[in-house]
Amino acid sequence: MGLGTNQSNYELVSGLEIHVQLNTNTKIFSSDSASFGALPNQNISTVSLALPGALPKLNKEVVAKAVRIGLALNCTINQINHFDRKNYFYADLPKGYQITQDNQPICINGFLEVELSDGSTKKIGINRIHLEEDAGKSMHDQDDHYSLVDLNRAGVPLIEIVTEPDIRSAEEASALLSEIRKLVRHLDVSDGNMEEGSLRCDANISIRESGTTEFGTRCEVKNLNSMRNVRRAMDFEFGRQVEVISSGGTIIQSTLNFDADKGRTSPMRTKEEANDYRYFSDPDLQPIYISDDWLAEITSAMPALPNEISKQMVSEFGISKADATLFAEDLDLLNYFNQALPLVNTNKTLINWLIGPIRAVLSERAIGIADYKVKPQQLAAAINLVDDKKITQQIAIQQLLPALEGTEDDVVSQAQSLNLLISENSDELGGFIDDVLSKFPAQVEAYKKGKKGVLGLFVGEVMKLAKGKADAKKLNELILEKLK
Ligand code: ADP
Ligand code: MG
Repeated sequence: MGLGTNQSNYELVSGLEIHVQLNTNTKIFSSDSASFGALPNQNISTVSLALPGALPKLNKEVVAKAVRIGLALNCTINQINHFDRKNYFYADLPKGYQITQDNQPICINGFLEVELSDGSTKKIGINRIHLEEDAGKSMHDQDDHYSLVDLNRAGVPLIEIVTEPDIRSAEEASALLSEIRKLVRHLDVSDGNMEEGSLRCDANISIRESGTTEFGTRCEVKNLNSMRNVRRAMDFEFGRQVEVISSGGTIIQSTLNFDADKGRTSPMRTKEEANDYRYFSDPDLQPIYISDDWLAEITSAMPALPNEISKQMVSEFGISKADATLFAEDLDLLNYFNQALPLVNTNKTLINWLIGPIRAVLSERAIGIADYKVKPQQLAAAINLVDDKKITQQIAIQQLLPALEGTEDDVVSQAQSLNLLISENSDELGGFIDDVLSKFPAQVEAYKKGKKGVLGLFVGEVMKLAKGKADAKKLNELILEKLK
């Protein structure tokens, strides 16, 4: 950083263009599989190859998914919209144009509120969401003499979410991205996997003097493929632009690459060299018409969004926001919870079990609750047994639940047949207490002289004899009774 440059005199301004690969089974304009990871050029038919005469046919599911995410981002849905051709030449684009949407995108004018680490929230405008097809993949580093092309990805459905230039820090950008990733997963729109390229983003970045309102000239950093690189690229680019401006230079509008190894951006092309894509509406495709009925159908099928779920759980069950988030961000857990909820004595107890001991079991086995083999009904019954002091929590967790896994067994009869229930027989417990007290005469003496701490020893010893099947509180009372 040069002499006299002070980053705090400048403000970062950024808008993101976020590409999300949709998780449909087939491609946007053909029945080719859209799955990731197949051998090169397996998922290609005449449409993906752009053979003469091959015509695109729109996959309806793509439209439905775009509308779902549009609704979640508070957008207006353009019920009539259409596809355009964006013309350019590249080996991984056999048609010579990409089918996309230019000035009539499917969703417009939304916003998303994100939470920042200081607890404040920030509202970021969504300019538009448009539909498009992905291009194939060129590989320039696999062969010494040739570039290789894999067209499996050609025609995989994408949406591009374009934000307003409302972002003011790298933290806001990554909060926005992670919120969008959460939403696309929650709505089953995309797997949101940044490593596999299902979610990637271009960051438009400019700076301006703090306190001023006019936007500066922006640069666009292409293809950021991790949350960390988004932050690094932004921080680097902010520093670079501050240095240029404060040493009297000007920012030239340009497209940049980010080198993740060096942590630097470098120029790809400037505005003067920018392509003229000659957009025009695609004559091979009819306009998309989203009827009122269809829109209403999609809208009513929308699940509650993570933030709504978490707010609702906080107010309904009085749990912390962090605990509520565990449920809001794991639909399987929420589902399991909802199935067990009507069957338990106390809701709060169920929550405590799920985020406490059950979560511990799951994380020990590195599985999700969907793979947990105790049915919600069985867990509810086991929790009620503990609640009613018929079995100790420890024995329920260590013996009863494991025995129930993968079975349809009735919980009470299973607990009985394994002999796990707390003995309600005070005579039996009384016998154990007598045994223990006579085994520790010195300690009994000490207790009577006021050393109340030894009570714990008696309880522990009796518990051992009872094989843990005793209610500790009740034991305490019985022992105190005997010691009188
Ligand atoms: P274009 O029409 O050239 O694609 P847009 O106006 O659609 O440009 O903006 C593209 C992206 O750049 C949007 O995400 C927008 O928020 C962002 N953007 C626009 N102006 C600026 C600026 N001065 N600084 C930072 N980002 C900007
Ligand atoms: Mg634009």
